[in-house]
Amino acid sequence: MHELSVMQGILEVVLRHAGKSGVSRVEAVNLQVGALSHLREEWMQKYFDHLTRDSVAEGAALRVERVPAVLSCRECGARFEWEGEGSPICPSCASQRADLISGREYTVASLEAV
Ligand SMILES: [Zn+2]
Repeated sequence: MHELSVMQGILEVVLRHAGKSGVSRVEAVNLQVGALSHLREEWMQKYFDHLTRDSVAEGAALRVERVPAVLSCRECGARFEWEGEGSPICPSCASQRADLISGREYTVASLEAV
């Protein structure tokens, strides 16, 4: 049920934005989701459809863009992006010891509305 609580949070943001700009209908929501997030898109849309019933965002399409995780190397401090596949390796010093800076978050990047 992780997706459901996430979608509730996203919907709150969407409705707040929509209310502020006085839109009558939200057509699409552009989301950025970190590469390490375990959110599954088919469930996100399903819950979103359920939650937006009778709201200005009813029927809106979710467009999910995956963004790379950002890691900080423990050896040299370099920050680098990681797609989430295999083991992260620092491009500066080839160390495999790194701390996660971001990669599990999700943000509402923009709304398309009328
Ligand atoms: Zn390094």
